[in-house]
Amino acid sequence: MITTTLEQHARISDGQLFQVRQTSPIADVVREFGIALTEVGATTLQGRCPFHDDGDGPALYVSPAGGYWTCGASEGGDVVAFVRHARGLDYQQAVEHLAERAGITLQPEPVPSSAVG
Ligand SMILES: [Zn+2]
Repeated sequence: MITTTLEQHARISDGQLFQVRQTSPIADVVREFGIALTEVGATTLQGRCPFHDDGDGPALYVSPAGGYWTCGASEGGDVVAFVRHARGLDYQQAVEHLAERAGITLQPEPVPSSAVG
C-alpha cells in the first residue's frame, strides 16, 4: 500500500493556496522562467515548450484568463503544475516557491496528532 507523501506534509490551507494562485499569474510565471510568449488570439499565448523538443514550432499554449497551460505533448495544468514541471518540485514545494516569489509567508496548518493511526 502506497500512501501519498503529500498528506504527511504540514498542510497549506485553502485560503493561502487561493492567495498564492491569485498572486501568481501563469503568464508572468512562465515568462519569468525565460519563455517568450506571443499572442495567438484574444485569450491565448504561445511559446516554446520548456519540457519537450518542440520540433516544428512552439507547442506551449498559455491561457492567462483560465490560469492554465498545455503543450502539444498532451501535458498541462495550472500554475502550480507548471512550476512542478519546470523546477522538478513536488506539489508542496511548488506552492512554497510561488509564495516566496509573491512575497507571501505561508503558515502551514498543523496536522492534528489525533489523525495519526
Ligand atoms: Zn511540451
